[in-house]
Amino acid sequence: MLSCRCPGRGIPLPLEFEHDRHSGAAVTTVERDCVIAGGGPAGVMLGFLLARAGLRVTVLEKHADFLRDFRGDTIHPSTLTVLGELGIRDRFLQLPVTRLPTLDAVFDGERITMVDFRTLPRPNDFLVLAPQWDLLNFLVEEGRAYPGFEVRMQTEATGVVIDDGRIRGVRAAGPDGDVEYLAPLSVAADGRHSVVREAADLTPRGFGVPIDILWFHLPKPPRRPSPDARVLVGEGDGPDDRPRGVLPGGNGHPQRRVR
Ligand SMILES: Cc1cc2nc3c(=O)[nH]c(=O)nc-3n(C[C@H](O)[C@H](O)[C@H](O)COP(=O)(O)OP(=O)(O)OC[C@H]3O[C@@H](n4cnc5c(N)ncnc54)[C@H](O)[C@@H]3O)c2cc1C
Repeated sequence: MLSCRCPGRGIPLPLEFEHDRHSGAAVTTVERDCVIAGGGPAGVMLGFLLARAGLRVTVLEKHADFLRDFRGDTIHPSTLTVLGELGIRDRFLQLPVTRLPTLDAVFDGERITMVDFRTLPRPNDFLVLAPQWDLLNFLVEEGRAYPGFEVRMQTEATGVVIDDGRIRGVRAAGPDGDVEYLAPLSVAADGRHSVVREAADLTPRGFGVPIDILWFHLPKPPRRPSPDARVLVGEGDGPDDRPRGVLPGGNGHPQRRVR
């Protein structure tokens, strides 16, 4: 077994080379306290929390960045509360976010406030619109304050390491080749088609969802949309005015036309 350093990416890690038991190819091994497959909100936030608690954590994200435009953009008051408890809320709100005190709808020309966040305890009495990638980039930047925090981009989890009937870590393929991240705790946060979950032979439980959501961009109209518009439009004081609509669901297909 040979010791080595990872060439040029992120903080130096305790790396070793060994050979794949099956193919004989060289495999790098890295020992961490926790390895998390998937750099979405679940994986990045868990990595942040564990690193904050002093653990050595690696988050594996298969994409090169967090720019998934189809992801959500509402940051809820309860999330702001959590960010506040972690001491990072105010820095997050310094990003170019949109604050919505209410959610309104116009029915037959009458504007109705459907949700009034101002009834919530201050200071988190508003909804924030911010693209999910802004939140993820922010959490990763904040995580750098902790020496044990590491995110490996372009690194795809391909399976789990099983030894003596127990899961010992996650296998991944990245820019530096194949790596086995060995850790007492392996987490599958790699989304609904989780590779790690399948490799670990875990069976998810499904819950029915009664709605579908259409997600698309429209140019912002110069004036407020017509009273019978069927799309809810977020109107705030910030840069984000992406329309969004909620429709009755049905086998994943929208059942109405949206004007
Ligand atoms: C259209 C839409 C709108 C939404 N709007 C909102 C909203 O406004 N507000 C809100 O709070 N929520 C919203 N959501 C829900 C929110 O996006 C999800 O709840 C959240 O993204 C789930 O986070 P997650 O980390 O569990 O999984 P994911 O976000 O799916 O993250 C999984 C990550 O794992 C990575 N990955 C996958 N496979 C691998 C692999 N093999 N190896 C390494 N990495 C891998 C993926 O690239 C991804 O980055 C919306 C969802 C959708 C689809």
